Amino acid sequence: MSDLTKKAVDVIRKVGLKPTAQRVETLEFLYSNKNYQSIDTIFNSLLENYKVFSKATIHSTLEIFVEKGIVSKFYGLNGEARIDVSGSNHTHFICEKCGLIDKIKTYNVDDDITRKSLDYEITSKETTYKGLCNKCKDER
Ligand SMILES: [Zn+2]
Repeated sequence: MSDLTKKAVDVIRKVGLKPTAQRVETLEFLYSNKNYQSIDTIFNSLLENYKVFSKATIHSTLEIFVEKGIVSKFYGLNGEARIDVSGSNHTHFICEKCGLIDKIKTYNVDDDITRKSLDYEITSKETTYKGLCNKCKDER
C-alpha cells in the first residue's frame, strides 16, 4: 500500500466511513492531483483510470466527502463547483480574467467581527478575494 493510499484510508476511517475501493481511489486521486479541479475533470480522469466507476458513484462519493468535511466544494468563476482538498478555514483568490484559483495566507482581521455580530455556531469560514493574477496583470 502506498503512502498516499494509506493516508486516504486513514482519513476515510477517521470520519467513520468504510474505506471502500472507490472512496479510497477517489481520495487518492484528489490528493495526487492539482487542487481545485472541477467535478467534471475528476469524473473524466477517474472514469479513464478505473473502469468500474460510474458517474453516479463518483458524484455520491464526492458528496459524502463534502458532508464529512474531508473535502469542500468551492465555487470558482461562473459558479462552477471545484473540489478543494485542503480543508476548511482558508482564503481563496480568484483571477477574474483567467479563472486561476489559489489559496492565500491572511491575517485574522475579520475574526472579531464574526464572533461579535453572530449568535450562530460557526463551523467554518470562507473568504474569497478577486482580482488579477500576476500573469494577467502583466498582460494588461
Ligand atoms: Zn489570471
